[in-house]
Amino acid sequence: MGIPIRKPWAHRTPETEVKRIRGRKGQAARLRRLTSEPLCVDCKAAGSVKAAEVVDHIVPLAKGGDDIDSNCRSLCHDCHRKRTAEQFGFKSKQTVGDDGWPT
Ligand SMILES: [Zn+2]
Repeated sequence: MGIPIRKPWAHRTPETEVKRIRGRKGQAARLRRLTSEPLCVDCKAAGSVKAAEVVDHIVPLAKGGDDIDSNCRSLCHDCHRKRTAEQFGFKSKQTVGDDGWPT
């Protein structure tokens, strides 16, 4: 009794909220960026050509990056996963093949 209930979301303040452009405006920006840079920049740097599927933030929004064109690059899903793992210090996830074994 009398113990304050700590809400798990109480640490969220407007300052820590990610300033991502959401909704229709965000979709339009994403599409425009993918159209202007339709190939994965990491694959291109490695000498191969692959269609970009996601718009990645060079400095993640969660780390204070801005949702602006100069902070964006087009990546394919594979490169995006690797980049995200690097940025957040995760080990890249083990993938499982169609046969159920790790690849
Ligand atoms: Zn790629």
